[in-house]
Amino acid sequence: AASSSSSVAAPGKGVENVVIIGSGPAGYTAAIYAARANLKPVVFEGYQVGGVPGGQLMTTTEVENFPGFPDGISGPDLMDRMRRQAERWGAELYQEDVEAIDVKSSPFTVQSSERKVKSHTVIFATGATAKRLRLPREDEFWSRGISACAICDGASPLFKGQVLAVIGGGDTATEEALYLTKYARHVHLLVRRDQLRASKAMQDRVYDNPNVTVHFNTEAVDLVSNTKGQMSGILIRKVDTGEESVLDVKGLFYGIGHSPNTQLLKGQVELDYSGYVQVEEGTAKTSVDGVFAAGDVQDHEWRQAVTAAGSGCIAALSVERYLVNKD
Ligand code: FAD
Repeated sequence: AASSSSSVAAPGKGVENVVIIGSGPAGYTAAIYAARANLKPVVFEGYQVGGVPGGQLMTTTEVENFPGFPDGISGPDLMDRMRRQAERWGAELYQEDVEAIDVKSSPFTVQSSERKVKSHTVIFATGATAKRLRLPREDEFWSRGISACAICDGASPLFKGQVLAVIGGGDTATEEALYLTKYARHVHLLVRRDQLRASKAMQDRVYDNPNVTVHFNTEAVDLVSNTKGQMSGILIRKVDTGEESVLDVKGLFYGIGHSPNTQLLKGQVELDYSGYVQVEEGTAKTSVDGVFAAGDVQDHEWRQAVTAAGSGCIAALSVERYLVNKD
């Protein structure tokens, strides 16, 4: 059933109830909930990922772990469905990047490439970007041999039963490597330094696992393909000796971290030590009243479509509650 809307005050002249920034699972879920609550959300979808809205899942093939799709669904198809659902309930969608915001005084101001909007509340759902190495052939094999998410892709037929590599030496990379041992024949962990940065407990788990080989002082230089054009290996270089060789692997996972898309927010809301939006635990509340954050932009840890969608729902319901209490 639709949530109650009669108690939410009509927006003042020219002031929106809520502006949502971002069009990933967090942004669209927030838009669906806010639209169903009659808040008439304005959504800036952005066009940074390949010039299309939809966020990170636009760059993947099959999504196998989003509930409700027992046979899997393509990332772009899933995002198109979320977009249409938001539109159906009356969300106003603009395929524009937000270029500046001001949440220092209320109502807040959001400036896109095309328009300036005033709003009582804002939901930030601008996501995060997996860090890449920018190897020469990386674009050719992105999502066709290279992944940045073991939980998303580890069990896919492309990688199952294969020899794989993970790049990185911190907690993310060691976790990815250990997770992949559930499905892979063997996992090579490529570490640029001469030691792991991961916690002692993670290091022990890696060293104790016979299915992981750690290569220290090793960096990836480029990718290698077979005659069918499939990724078949990585050209690696020993950083101490300069010696190069090819490591035969069918898949490569980046475990070198993510960058939250929070450039707009610097100096506006509190960010944590690595630039993620700081929210009050278990809520979508930022350090500024009326400003909420959802999805990967505030999530170091889980980074899944379903958790992003869940936090988008929390953000929209929080906006509804905030507007009711404000009047
Ligand atoms: P995002 O999806 O990152 O979307 C952020 C949005 O904000 C984008 O639309 C962007 O254009 C927009 N934006 C950014 N800045 C601005 C701005 N200034 N103005 C306007 N808009 C802006 N998760 C799973 O659960 N299952 C999977 O199988 C899976 N596979 C994945 C495969 C790949 C290749 C990748 C990269 C990720 C995968 N993930 C998967 C993770 C999942 O995609 C993310 O957890 C999820 O997309 C996060 O959603 P989000 O809404 O927080 O942000």
